[in-house]
Amino acid sequence: MNANQSPSFDNHEQVVFLNDQSSGLNAIIAIHNTNLGPAVGGCRMYPYASEEHALEDVLRLSRGMTYKSALAGLPMGGGKAVIIGDPKVDKTPQLLRKMGEFIDTLNGRYVSAEDSGTSVADLKIMAIETAHVLGINEQQEFGGDPSPLTAYGIYCGIEASAAHRLGVQNLEGAHIAIQGVGAVGQYLTKLLIQAGARVSACDINLSNLENAERLGAQIVDVDKIIALEADVFAPCAMGAAINDESILKLNMPIVAGGANNQLSNAEHGEKLRQRGILYAPDFVINAGGIIEICRQFQDAPASECKRNIEGIRDTLSEIFDISDQRVCATNTVAERLAAQRFMIEAKPLMSNAV
Ligand code: NAD
Repeated sequence: MNANQSPSFDNHEQVVFLNDQSSGLNAIIAIHNTNLGPAVGGCRMYPYASEEHALEDVLRLSRGMTYKSALAGLPMGGGKAVIIGDPKVDKTPQLLRKMGEFIDTLNGRYVSAEDSGTSVADLKIMAIETAHVLGINEQQEFGGDPSPLTAYGIYCGIEASAAHRLGVQNLEGAHIAIQGVGAVGQYLTKLLIQAGARVSACDINLSNLENAERLGAQIVDVDKIIALEADVFAPCAMGAAINDESILKLNMPIVAGGANNQLSNAEHGEKLRQRGILYAPDFVINAGGIIEICRQFQDAPASECKRNIEGIRDTLSEIFDISDQRVCATNTVAERLAAQRFMIEAKPLMSNAV
């Protein structure tokens, strides 16, 4: 398969494939850009319908990591890995060790961490074969898992979005609709309920749904969540939650959630803007986990990490203000700001180029 023929190819520096018969590992690692540092990004395991789907995903996700780390001010580039397979069925220690070996072949140009379908325990198995894995140090708060800090960043981002769009200073009484209550969605539910918000949640996984209900969320059908009359739609499942079909049903004034690649394509950002829906760009609002991963990489104090995550509020407020001033979609503004940090030749934002 030729990565540079994929519609999602964006001058990626390196894309490598591995199909290993003995362990059953079928995986792709994509390194998008290393101008600011090594390409850091999670390893996702998912039962992709085809290798083409997996390639699309890893190309888009690795590009998103470059923009995410740049805008969060981190000395890291963007990369991602995907394993094609069902984590509930196909994951074996042998397969995970082979993945560790695969990561090791890149000599630290790509550094891995948890993502959807992989856990701290899985990464520890990969780490038997490579030193280029983060998020596994159990001495850390939350045992190295970045999900609680990702959720904290999303919570801060929802506050900033609500302040900008609804003119409120806190989330008490606000109604948030969460699509997907896995690792990130659970922690987000907890933070929102503690803040006095009302949470409606959906998921295709019954046990995750039951956990969310125990935390105080109201359960909603997967098909109905998008059409709820709520204040914030928070996509926390897979990508493309905002697509040609869902955008027509969406009535909530804010989209602010943790999933990567929430827009099926970039034009949906402009469509949201035209409908008066404020979109908190995914790679800005969900940077809490990578900020924590970077802290682990640099061995910096935890207090610094929390302060940096809270900086997501200011970054989003700046993006929202520029978006209003320049009548430009928030995702376009955010991409321009990020590009100024990782690409020397990026166009200056405040010219007429936005
Ligand atoms: P997860 O696998 O733990 O949770 C995802 C949840 O979404 C699962 O409960 C799954 O059953 C559910 N889901 C899948 N399809 C659904 C659908 N159609 N409708 C409703 N629910 C559905 O993954 P996670 O770690 O919570 O990550 C969630 C999203 O956030 C992913 O897009 C991930 O890439 C992104 N993200 C995660 C982190 C992190 O720190 N974990 C950081 C940044 C971004």
